[in-house]
Amino acid sequence: MTPAHRAGSPREADHSPELRAAARHFGRRGFLTVTGAAAALAFSAGLPGTAHAAEADPRRITEDPFTLGVASGDPLPGSVLLWTRLAPRPYEPGSGMPRARVQVRWELAHDARFTRIVRRGQATAHPELDHSVHAEVTGLDADRVYHYRFRAGTWISPAGRTRTAPRPGARPGELRLAAVSCQAYHDGYFTAYRHLADEDLDAVFHLGDYLYEYAVNATGGARAYTDRRLPAHFNRETVTLEDYRLRYGLYKSDPDLMAAHAAHPFVVTWDDHETENNYAGGTPENDVPPEEFLLRRAAAYRAYWENQPLRAPQRPTGPDMRLYRRLRFGRLARFDILDTRQYRSDQAYGDGWQTPGPASEDPSRTMLGTTQERWLLDGWRAADTTWNVVPQQVTFARRRNVPTPAYKLSMDAWDGYPAARARLLDGAAAAGIENLVVLTGDVHVGYAFDLKADFDDPASRTVGTEIVATSVASGKDGADRPANWADITAANPHLKFYNGRRGYVTVTLTGERARADFRTVAAVTTPGAPVTTAASFVTEAGDPGLKPV
Ligand code: FE
Ligand code: CA
Repeated sequence: MTPAHRAGSPREADHSPELRAAARHFGRRGFLTVTGAAAALAFSAGLPGTAHAAEADPRRITEDPFTLGVASGDPLPGSVLLWTRLAPRPYEPGSGMPRARVQVRWELAHDARFTRIVRRGQATAHPELDHSVHAEVTGLDADRVYHYRFRAGTWISPAGRTRTAPRPGARPGELRLAAVSCQAYHDGYFTAYRHLADEDLDAVFHLGDYLYEYAVNATGGARAYTDRRLPAHFNRETVTLEDYRLRYGLYKSDPDLMAAHAAHPFVVTWDDHETENNYAGGTPENDVPPEEFLLRRAAAYRAYWENQPLRAPQRPTGPDMRLYRRLRFGRLARFDILDTRQYRSDQAYGDGWQTPGPASEDPSRTMLGTTQERWLLDGWRAADTTWNVVPQQVTFARRRNVPTPAYKLSMDAWDGYPAARARLLDGAAAAGIENLVVLTGDVHVGYAFDLKADFDDPASRTVGTEIVATSVASGKDGADRPANWADITAANPHLKFYNGRRGYVTVTLTGERARADFRTVAAVTTPGAPVTTAASFVTEAGDPGLKPV
C-alpha cells in the first residue's frame, strides 16, 4: 500500500500504533475529535514496515543528495550511530526526492582518507522518514576514533569523524566535551560551531533549542543575506510535519553546523523551541485545544528524530518520545540526559518571572514526570563513576532577579519546580552521589553556579556545580555584561560567572578535576568572528565548588 493510500484512509490509519498512542493520550472522547484527515496527516503518513514504498534505483539521483552533511551520535563502547538525510533540494517540500525507498551504503574507516576501511553496510532511506538514514554500527573497538561516509548511487557524502566510548570498566585519563544550545538561525551565524569543529573533543552535548519555530524571512533575519533569498514558506511559524522538516532542512544546510557535526559525535536533547516556546507536557504556550497541540507535538518530535543522530529506542510513537537516556565513559563519567519538557507540570502563575508562592511550591509539581524522576534516582543509586553529569535544559540553581526581598524567579526553570529540585538533590545525597555536574542551556547566557544544600544560606554545603552554556546564536551578538549583570550577580552569591556573549562551553574531566572553559565569539550578526575564552573554572573531585583558573 502506498503512503498516499494510507493518508486518505482513516480506517487503515485507525490500526496504526501512532493513532493508538494518540487515543491513549487524548482519551476516547478527545481522540474522536482529531480522527480523520488531521490525525491521518499527523500520524499515519506510514512508517516503514506498515507501508511499503517502491524502491528507487539510487543511480537515478541526479543531484547531490548529501546537502545536509553527516552526523554521528550517542557513542557506546563498541557502537556509533551514523546519520544523514537525502535532500537534493532541502528547501523544497519533499527535498527533491522521489516517494520511494533508496538504499544507502556506509563505510567506516580508521583513517580520514578511507584507505583502511573496517566496516561497510547498507541502510534504507525511507520516504516515510523523509529519507533520513540512521545506521547503527556495532562490534567496533571501544574508545577509538573512526571516520565514516555514505554513498547513494554515484554520490559520496562528506566524511565525518566519530569516536566510540571507553569500556564500562575502563579508566580513561581524560574526557573532553562541549555543551551547546539555542541556535536561532534568524538571530545570526553559527560562527561558534565553526570554532567548535576545530576543538579536540570526545563528544558534544546539545542541550536544546536546536531549531526555533519562529518565522525566518527571505534574508535570514539578522544574517541579512545579500547573496540569496530564502523561500517564503520559512517566513511563518512551524506547525505541520512538513513545516518542521523544511525547517530542519534550513538549519542543517548551515555549513558551520555541518562542520561541527562532521567533527564530533553529538548527544542531543531538546528544549521547548523544537516544538513550541515554553510548552509544558501536553500544555501549549497559547490557547490551543490540547488534542490539537499534541498533533503538533507529534509532528515536531517526528521531525526531530528524523533529523538527529538518535538511536531506534528514541524513535517517537505519535506525541511520545523516550528522549531521556544514559551514557557512560568508563568509570570516569556517566551522563543522565534529561527531558524537562515532555512530562512537566504547567508553569505556575502563568509562566515568566514571578514571585514564588504556594502554586509554584506545590510538592505535587513535577519537572521530569514520575517515571523519569524515578529512573534518575534509581540510576544514581547504582552509580560507580567519578563524575555524575546531568545534561538538561533549564537553569537548575536558584536564580533571583534582584538582590532585594521583592525578587522574582523564572517559572519555566527549576525555580518554578522547587519541590522537584529538592527531590533530586535529596536523592543525590541519599545515593552518595559525588561530583554532580549539571549542564544547562536555554537562557542564552553563560553561567557558572555552585549548587547549594540551602540556596538561602551561602555558607551551606556546596553539593555540586552547574555549568550553563550560552547560545550559539539566539539573542544576536549579546554583551559580556548584560544590563542586569550587577543585579543578578549581587542577588545570587552562588553564581560565580555570568557572561552574555554567544559561544559554547568545553568541559574537561579527569580523575582529579573538572574544568570548564567558557568560549565566546564577539559577534554573530556578521560572519567570521574569532573565539576567545571568557573565563575558566575548575572543581576538584571530592571537593565541589568552582574556583577560577
Ligand atoms: Fe533558546
Ligand atoms: Ca528554551
